[in-house]
Amino acid sequence: MQVSYLADLVTLADPSSKFSYLNFLRSHNRLIQFGVHEQGYITRSEYNRYCRWVCGQLTNLLFGFTVESVDYNRELEIFIVSCYDKSTDSRQIIRTRKLVVGIGSQPCLPCNTRQFLNEKVLHAADYMYRRGEIIQSKK
Ligand SMILES: Cc1cc2nc3c(=O)[nH]c(=O)nc-3n(C[C@H](O)[C@H](O)[C@H](O)COP(=O)(O)OP(=O)(O)OC[C@H]3O[C@@H](n4cnc5c(N)ncnc54)[C@H](O)[C@@H]3O)c2cc1C
Repeated sequence: MQVSYLADLVTLADPSSKFSYLNFLRSHNRLIQFGVHEQGYITRSEYNRYCRWVCGQLTNLLFGFTVESVDYNRELEIFIVSCYDKSTDSRQIIRTRKLVVGIGSQPCLPCNTRQFLNEKVLHAADYMYRRGEIIQSKK
C-alpha cells in the first residue's frame, strides 16, 4: 500500500477502535512479529484480509447492491435510499438521517490516448473488470 498502516479504516479517527489494523494483527497473533520487523507498509493482499476481517464483524453492511435512487423526505428529515441486487433480483429500501456518498471518481482518459486502448492497454479503472482475461493472456 502507498500509505502507512496507520491510515487503516479507523485509527486516524479513533485510535482506540477495536477495528484497527494493529488489533487485527493482535487477534491473529502477529502483532509482535509486525512490531519487531518495523514494517511501515503492508501489502494489498494483507489490507484486503484486514478489510474482510472488519467487514465480517459488522452486521449492517450490504454488498452487491446498486443504489438506484436517493430521495429526501423533508417532513421526516430522512434520506430514502433504494437499492437493487441484480443477482438475486431483490430490492432494499433504507431510511437514514445521515448519508455518506463514496461512488469513486470518473476515470480520466485524455482523448488523444483513447486510440491506443486495446485488449492489452487499458485504464487501471478497468483492471478488476478485465482481470480474468489479463491473467489468461499471460499464459
Ligand atoms: C491502481 C490504484 C492504486 C491505488 N493505491 C492506493 C494506495 O496504495 N493507497 C491509497 O490510499 N489509495 C490508493 N489508491 C486510491 C484509492 O483506491 C482511492 O482513493 C479510493 O479507493 C477512493 O475511494 P472511494 O470510496 O471514493 O471510491 P472507490 O474505491 O472507487 O469505491 C466506489 C465504489 O462505489 C461503487 N458504486 C458506484 N456507484 C454505485 C451505485 N450506484 N450503487 C452502489 N455502488 C456504487 C463502485 O462500484 C465502487 O465499488 C489507488 C488507486 C488506484 C486506481
